[in-house]
Amino acid sequence: MDQYSTSTDQEHQIHQRHAQGSSSSSATRNPIRLLRSLMPSCFRSSPSSEPPAPARVHHVWPGKNVFFLDGRVICGPDPRGLILTAMALLLSEWILLTYVVLDPPSPHPVLVPVASLILLATVTATLLLAATRDPGIIPRRVPDSLSPSVEDGETSAATRTPRRFVVINGVEMQLKFCRTCKIHRPPRSAHCAVCDNCVDKFDQHCSWISQCVGLRNYRFYLLLLCSAFAFYGFALTFSVRRIRAKLDSPDARLFSLVTTLPETLVLAVFSFVAVCVVAGLLAFHAFLAAKNKTSHEWEKGRYRSSPNPYDKGALGNIKECLFDKLPPPGVDFRATAEPATWAQPVASC
Ligand SMILES: [Zn+2]
Ligand SMILES: [Zn+2]
Repeated sequence: MDQYSTSTDQEHQIHQRHAQGSSSSSATRNPIRLLRSLMPSCFRSSPSSEPPAPARVHHVWPGKNVFFLDGRVICGPDPRGLILTAMALLLSEWILLTYVVLDPPSPHPVLVPVASLILLATVTATLLLAATRDPGIIPRRVPDSLSPSVEDGETSAATRTPRRFVVINGVEMQLKFCRTCKIHRPPRSAHCAVCDNCVDKFDQHCSWISQCVGLRNYRFYLLLLCSAFAFYGFALTFSVRRIRAKLDSPDARLFSLVTTLPETLVLAVFSFVAVCVVAGLLAFHAFLAAKNKTSHEWEKGRYRSSPNPYDKGALGNIKECLFDKLPPPGVDFRATAEPATWAQPVASC
């Protein structure tokens, strides 16, 4: 008995020493913990006495999105495309200001740089709006209330892919069953394999903004295309203007531009490619907007054998696309993480 109590005391002391050691080593690694241990009076209470913050929906959301500012900002899972796009814009503006419009001084030393900065601010704002906004993520089915046959993954076609239909403007549309989200999703939605969400009026997953394009950010995507076209059109105009001014000088030769104006030449080539790509995308999406189709529907060949029930005529379609009030988010990612706050009840599935 004594041996047992002695060994228990020793174990307790070892545990205490271990806990103190791990606490001090973690404090040295964590500057906030180090400050707490050095100046406890500066902190209102110890971390253990504070109640843990309740988990929010974005903490437990099963999709692959990355959340910032406590769920206010929603990005796709891989931000490399967005970072690359932002860096390309900033680098283009830097070359434009440093080598094209300020050296040599232009006849409008204030107007041209200010115009380029306004264009950059516009394209950056639309980029952020398109890339950090909920694109129309559809709530999932409440996991706890799933029927065992669906959750266990039985192979019965009747339970795994039940068919449902809805009639829209006289046209019967099938509601497909998403096995990941466990819902019958709305007719125009699709499951994004990159973000792992069903997105309403899914258009595409755009790698350049690292985000889905759907019902709630499509118009900002169109504005991004328009502002990017204006920005790179501006950059192309002034870089070509400077190259032509250099070529007009008596001692100029075409190949000498590589050594005398390398930055302007790079900007002109990059802007030309960007203008061509963005103009093609703009024309394609203007066609889709006028027809009230998404890229996904166009790719899948929808409405070829049946009429498009959403078609309101070209003007009505463009008005709906650009000016109709957007619906609120389907999922409140900042709400407390209870199934009812982020998932559909069984009855509505
Ligand atoms: Zn889904
Ligand atoms: Zn996506």
